[in-house]
Amino acid sequence: MVLDAPGGPLRLVPDAAEREPGPGEALVAVHACGVCRTDLHILDGEVKASRYPLVPGHQIVGTVLATGPGAELERGARVGVPWLAWTCGECRYCTSGRENLCVRARFTGLDVDGGYATRTTADARYCFALPDGYGDLEAAPLLCAGLIGHRALRMCGDAARLGLYGFGASAHIVCQVARHQGRRVFAFTRADDAASQAFARELGCEWAGDAMGPAPEELDAAIVFAPVGALVPAALRALAPGGAVVCAGIHMSDIPSFPYADLWRERSIRSVANLTRADARELLDLAPRVPVRTRVTAYSLERANDALEDLRGGRLEGAAVIVTE
Ligand SMILES: [Zn+2]
Ligand SMILES: [Zn+2]
Repeated sequence: MVLDAPGGPLRLVPDAAEREPGPGEALVAVHACGVCRTDLHILDGEVKASRYPLVPGHQIVGTVLATGPGAELERGARVGVPWLAWTCGECRYCTSGRENLCVRARFTGLDVDGGYATRTTADARYCFALPDGYGDLEAAPLLCAGLIGHRALRMCGDAARLGLYGFGASAHIVCQVARHQGRRVFAFTRADDAASQAFARELGCEWAGDAMGPAPEELDAAIVFAPVGALVPAALRALAPGGAVVCAGIHMSDIPSFPYADLWRERSIRSVANLTRADARELLDLAPRVPVRTRVTAYSLERANDALEDLRGGRLEGAAVIVTE
């Protein structure tokens, strides 16, 4: 499924040519690919790809069919291919443990073709072994919703009372990890979204309610997953002194102005961008020990546009996953 230009929709290309794996690359038979809100931002042109046509998709689960020279992966191995596709290894970020900020980074499904396909190629150094006990569908959402959600959770430090703003694919994973760590979790959704609120309570949130209303008590940290700038000052108002608002998305509508008093007393606002390979290893090691259980809705590859529109319309519980074979 290719995106020809910002605005979409995606177009099925039944006879796409298969690329030979280059040096260091693996050719991967895609079994499943998670659908991420970033894919929707790319479709809408809010996040610009470096070239079109483009195959989106950056939560890929597949098996290695062939490898190019120097690629250290076994044929037949099950691998996960995440958002981070390549980094330079030389810039000030790469050399200080922050490859997520690499100035020349390339991203799967943005700069290189991704997983809304039956085959893809990936740099073997950025592919990961996946934990046993997860089917291909269930593993897919770990690869971005899980990894970047977990990075956002780490930015919350030792916050005991955690607010999650927007309860989609990422929050449903982060909630389980946070409960496992002994944190108290509060879910903030649209006022009338009773389904998401019930889902959040089912996964261990002790409260779920209106994101724009008052919080039931002060929070030590809040993660904003929904791409709605107005949630940032709302989350800030819910924080105890010293608390942090962590914005986990790649794109958000503008943040309205707010009184400085809401920020004062060492509250902070920060964003989380991308992932490092260390983040990936950490979450993929932790997930089976929680154990994180992902809730997925499967779509055939031909129905990728439907999956994206269901995500846009808030009609999903957990994560949408495209299943290719
Ligand atoms: Zn993503
Ligand atoms: Zn770099």
